[in-house]
Amino acid sequence: MLVSMRQMLDRAKAEKYAVAAPNTFNVETVEAAFKAASELKSPVIIDCAGVHDIELIAELTRFFDKRYPEVAVALNLDHGSTYEEAIRAIKAGFTSVMADRSTLPYEYNVTQVKEIVQAAHAVGVSVEAELGHVGMGYEYDKTRDGALTDPDEAVRFVKETDIDCLAVAVGTSHGSYKGEPRIEFDRLAAMHRKINIPLVLHGGSGTGDDNLRRAVKTGIQKVNLFTDLSNRGIGFMRNYLVDMRSDAEADAAATAGSVEPAGEFDGNAGTINLCDAFAEGAKGYKEALKHYMVLFGSAGKA
Ligand SMILES: [Zn+2]
Repeated sequence: MLVSMRQMLDRAKAEKYAVAAPNTFNVETVEAAFKAASELKSPVIIDCAGVHDIELIAELTRFFDKRYPEVAVALNLDHGSTYEEAIRAIKAGFTSVMADRSTLPYEYNVTQVKEIVQAAHAVGVSVEAELGHVGMGYEYDKTRDGALTDPDEAVRFVKETDIDCLAVAVGTSHGSYKGEPRIEFDRLAAMHRKINIPLVLHGGSGTGDDNLRRAVKTGIQKVNLFTDLSNRGIGFMRNYLVDMRSDAEADAAATAGSVEPAGEFDGNAGTINLCDAFAEGAKGYKEALKHYMVLFGSAGKA
C-alpha cells in the first residue's frame, strides 16, 4: 500500500528502527525493492532522483503496489532541485519530495523549502529537506568537515520550514568513501534529543554495518542507499557473464588478462542473454537491500 513517508517514518521513530530508501531508475530496481520488502515484510521507500524518468517510476510503483499489496511503500523524489521538479513529482503521484537546497545559504534554504512545503502539504505529500551538506565520497578527505549540521540551527530550520523529515550531515558521504568514514554520533544524538521529526542519513553505502547500526540506534529513521546495491548487482551480473562464457572466450580472456566478454558478442550459442543478465543484476541489488533491511530493524514492520 502506498503511504505517506511521514507516517511511515513516525512509526519507525516510535519503534526505533529505520527504513531503507534505495535509489531506483528502471523496472528491475523498482521490482527488486518491492520483492525485498515483501520477502522480509518490511516497509520500503522508493527513492528516485530527477535525473531519471520520474513519471515512469511513479507508474512502475503503482503497478508493483497492486502486485504486492502487502508492502507498505512510500515514493520519494530524491534530491529535488527545483520547484518545478517537485510539482512534477507530486503530479506524477509521489507521496514525498525532497527539496534539497543544502548548498544555498541558510535563509535561501528556508525560503525555498517553505514554498515547496506549502504546495506539498496542500495535497498530503510530505517533504524532506537537508541542512548542512552531505558531499561526495571521492572528495571525502576535503569536504567531510565543511558542512556538518549544527544541532541548534537544525532546530530552527525545522521550526521555520515545517518539513516532515530532515537529512543531516554527520560525516557520511555519497558514493564510495575516499578514506575511512567517521560518523559524529554525539552530534546525531543531540539532534535526536532536540528535534521531534524523523532524521535521514544520506550516503549509507560504504559506511559500514557497525556505523549504520549505531546511527539507527542513535536516531536515524531513513537511510538512503545506492552504491552498495549497484555494486552487488554488478557483481552478480559479472559472475553470470563470466560463468556463462564459452571455453574459447574464457581462454581468450585469460590470455588477454581480462574478465570482460568481447564487445562483439556472439551469443554463446544461445546460452547467455540480456534477459538473464538483467535478472542477475536485480537479484544482487535485492540481496544487498535485504541485508540492510535486516540491519536497520525494519524487517517484520510492514
Ligand atoms: Zn543523497
